[in-house]
Amino acid sequence: MLNVEFTEEQRQYLAGFVAGTDVARAAKGYATFADTLEANGAGALLNGHSNGLQSAGPDQMFLGAQDRFLAAGKKLCPEEQAKRAKPPLDLWDEIQQHTREKRFPKGTDVLLFKFHGLFYVAPAQNAFMCRLRFAGGFTNSFQFRRVADLAEQFAGGYADLTTRANLQLREIAPTHTIDVLTGLHDAGIVNRGAGADNIRNITAPCTAGIDPQELIDVRPLCRELHHYILHHREMYGLPRKFNIAFDGGGTTTALEDTNDIGFAAVRVPAGGAETEGVYFRVQLGGITGHQDFARDTGLLLFAEECVPVAAAMVRVFIEHGDRTDRKKARLKYLLDEWGFEKFLDETQKRLPFPLRRLPIDQCEPRAPVDKHVHVGVHPQRQPGLSYVGLVLPVGRMQSDQMRAVADIADRFGSGTIRLTVWQNLIISDIQDKNLAAVKAAIEATGLDWRASSFRAGLVACTGSAGCKFAAADTKRHALAIARQLESKLELDQPINIHVTGCPHSCAQHYIGDIGLLATKVPVGDDLVEGYHVYLGGGYGANQAIGREYARNIPADELPERLEAMLRAYLEHRTDSSETFAAFTRRYSTEELRELCEATAQAS
Ligand code: SF4
Repeated sequence: MLNVEFTEEQRQYLAGFVAGTDVARAAKGYATFADTLEANGAGALLNGHSNGLQSAGPDQMFLGAQDRFLAAGKKLCPEEQAKRAKPPLDLWDEIQQHTREKRFPKGTDVLLFKFHGLFYVAPAQNAFMCRLRFAGGFTNSFQFRRVADLAEQFAGGYADLTTRANLQLREIAPTHTIDVLTGLHDAGIVNRGAGADNIRNITAPCTAGIDPQELIDVRPLCRELHHYILHHREMYGLPRKFNIAFDGGGTTTALEDTNDIGFAAVRVPAGGAETEGVYFRVQLGGITGHQDFARDTGLLLFAEECVPVAAAMVRVFIEHGDRTDRKKARLKYLLDEWGFEKFLDETQKRLPFPLRRLPIDQCEPRAPVDKHVHVGVHPQRQPGLSYVGLVLPVGRMQSDQMRAVADIADRFGSGTIRLTVWQNLIISDIQDKNLAAVKAAIEATGLDWRASSFRAGLVACTGSAGCKFAAADTKRHALAIARQLESKLELDQPINIHVTGCPHSCAQHYIGDIGLLATKVPVGDDLVEGYHVYLGGGYGANQAIGREYARNIPADELPERLEAMLRAYLEHRTDSSETFAAFTRRYSTEELRELCEATAQAS
């Protein structure tokens, strides 16, 4: 027996390392590893680890990052301590045990379960939410039917479409987590890392591969990066969540400038420092909830270099991101501290090829984006084929509607279903002669392919109906706003309304033409649900963080207040080509208030 002293951190790690396995062994009546280690002197195992035998394997990257903070005398935040104590990817036995015992996780285990896409969402709902994962948001009729079945059998009978072109199932009882996870895996949907401190769904323009304007089809890159993440365990060792998007330069975008890393396709013209062709520029540090967009780094990549560069950048973040303060643990804060040059130098050290640079003004400007081209019928780049964007009421679909959508995609399209960051979906590859039949089939599901300007760009986060952080029922309020505006106004310009339940900003209120951030509003002796209002946000070529216009508006008053605002826009815009965002930017906040009040009194 070896006689070795352990540090507290070593003890924590060892305890976590064996805990998941021990749950299952104890349940079967076997001796646990903890007992065995105790009986034999755990020093043998721990001493081997601490002497560099690398028993931590690929987890060594994030454990080493934690070690550097500890060596500097700093304290890991509780979430980092939890990940150190219990490897989150090794929880399968523990999840099974919870399922058998009809138990929800407690304490920091709630975070660790999210590594498997399982969110215990009490007190909003005493149930799990399960977040899925689709490379670029692209799926198919087979997976859609299977998810519909799982939703009906084991969840609430519906699925929610998210602002990362993903699906979520809700109202999952603790007895059904394994049923859902194995059902998803059987359908080829591996949702490992869908939550917690991981790289979230890789996003892409929903028209990738069918867009008449795009420079390059980014679907293969999304797929390559998606699988790279799934199959490299160190890619699950981040200090905080991480977003990556690819833009192909088409009529739609993936909002890449709101991501930690955004790859944006560009054309380099002939006659410059680089060979003519299509490349990708790299933008870094987007996090609109913290009022920052990703900025261009000056890098210029071949398509085949994007995934290695993404992986190298993620590794730099794993090794150097903050692990003591969750609020500062996003990539933006590492970039603020280091500057781009140091970050790119560190990235370069992890790559087998040199990074290429080109000033952005030597690339052709990006072609314009059509804001609402994700809804309705549009021709594809393939002659004779069109796609149809369906409108979902703030992203929700019932299981029978999902099956109907899958049937339409099979019968009239290629079986492809494209989820969008606008919380709707597209059925593609429809022969033009079948469009009338497709429209009728969509209407028969209770969904629609038409939308008013208000509804086409309406996004809402989960809100208080399913998220404990929410200060208001965002989806209900968003629909009330859409109904009011549709009944009173006609708008000839697209407008995006983003309704978000808390500062986590899942619906990205700062980039909406109108952004609403939920809050509790004092009314008499009560607190009621309400919103702060932001105006004039945008993305891409119209990039802007929305300006605060009003605070503490009770939710009940919002539909009429927004109606007055849009009436003022229609009356005072320079001409019909002026967008709502451009209109708001011409006035000071005080002037806008006066215009809106005058309009409200006159109507
Ligand atoms: Fe929940 Fe806040 Fe995200 Fe809305 S923005 S889903 S309230 S965490």
